[in-house]
Amino acid sequence: MITVGILGGGQLARMLALSGAPLGLRFLVMDTSPDACAGQFAPMVVGDYRDETALAEFASRVDVATFDFENVPAESARWLAERVPVFPSPRALATAQDRLAEKTLFRELGIPVPDFVPVDSREELEAAVAHVGAPCILKTRRLGYDGKGQFRIRQTRGNGGASVDDAWEALGAQAEKVGLIVEAFVPFERELSVVAMRGRDGEFRSWPLTENWHVDGVLSASLAPARVDDAMAAQALGHAQRLADAVGYVGVFALELFQRDGVLLANELAPRVHNSGHWTIEGSETSQFENHMRAVAGLPLGDTRMLGHACMLNWIGAMPDPAPVLAESGGHWHDYGKAPREGRKVGHATLRSDDPAALAQALERVGATLGREAQVAPVVARLRG
Ligand code: AMP
Repeated sequence: MITVGILGGGQLARMLALSGAPLGLRFLVMDTSPDACAGQFAPMVVGDYRDETALAEFASRVDVATFDFENVPAESARWLAERVPVFPSPRALATAQDRLAEKTLFRELGIPVPDFVPVDSREELEAAVAHVGAPCILKTRRLGYDGKGQFRIRQTRGNGGASVDDAWEALGAQAEKVGLIVEAFVPFERELSVVAMRGRDGEFRSWPLTENWHVDGVLSASLAPARVDDAMAAQALGHAQRLADAVGYVGVFALELFQRDGVLLANELAPRVHNSGHWTIEGSETSQFENHMRAVAGLPLGDTRMLGHACMLNWIGAMPDPAPVLAESGGHWHDYGKAPREGRKVGHATLRSDDPAALAQALERVGATLGREAQVAPVVARLRG
């Protein structure tokens, strides 16, 4: 009997536990909050990730550890890795936690990235914006997610909004704590992600590319397979494999990409199962959650073949009425058991069909009944395009 420890007890840990249970795995979740939603399904250790007493208890009760949350302090991951196997490794985690380290690695591996410059002071910000050019984005190097810790700079100077001065006022205080980076703004045609995995023995597998739509920096909808030509798909998978091999990654990860003029630019490596891979629960032979559990437990990896076409819709803030989704033949509901709160991911739905035209129709029906026309519209347009 293998007990898998998961650091972070949110919806990802919850879905990992749900998918790992049939494999006979046991779970222990660690989170700072006793209300973490994975705690509804798995025993928990409640404690700060830097608290060695809590970490020691966690380590003593698990055979192997993994993450649902990439911002676990790197020192805590290293401390844990001295006691139990940890996948992905603390080194891979540390790279993905720092936008500068991550983007530097992308560049070293020949993976195109938007131009970037690290920034430690007001003067350096000025110089960085002059180098990269406006518009650009000032981001925290660490601890940012879902578009948080970002400020878009539209012009170099000015008393409107969004100048260098405004950006420094918004994020300057973070420079010492988490570091800052300026990135060129990419007027992308679309956003794509590769959800892929690497086993303990180095075997690499990927799901088909996913297209993603964000609202205010938060994922709103995903469509798989993305409508891309084979050459572009091969390019994306090549980037993901080079990256996984370079850091000796074990488990599932996502590589977020911007498509611009036929080129894929890497935005971010997420060292965990990813929101843009939630569709794999019903849309693939083996879900990202089960496959992450297989990789971590050292079991054979499962087939990543798609079952038709799938669209995932995120529910942010509060859960809508499930009935319109459940009334669809390929409609599936995921309520994370979280209290409603503005901006919070509380659940998702997946609509799946063998026929893209039927999927578009189902999305339109669901969008109209739930008043979510704007959320489904870009996906419907892509399916019909
Ligand atoms: P991130 O937290 O870096 O994944 O950013 C969240 C979202 O903000 C991305 O999915 C994009 O929609 C947008 N974004 C981030 N960086 C850039 C960029 N350099 N150019 C254009 N859009 C961006």
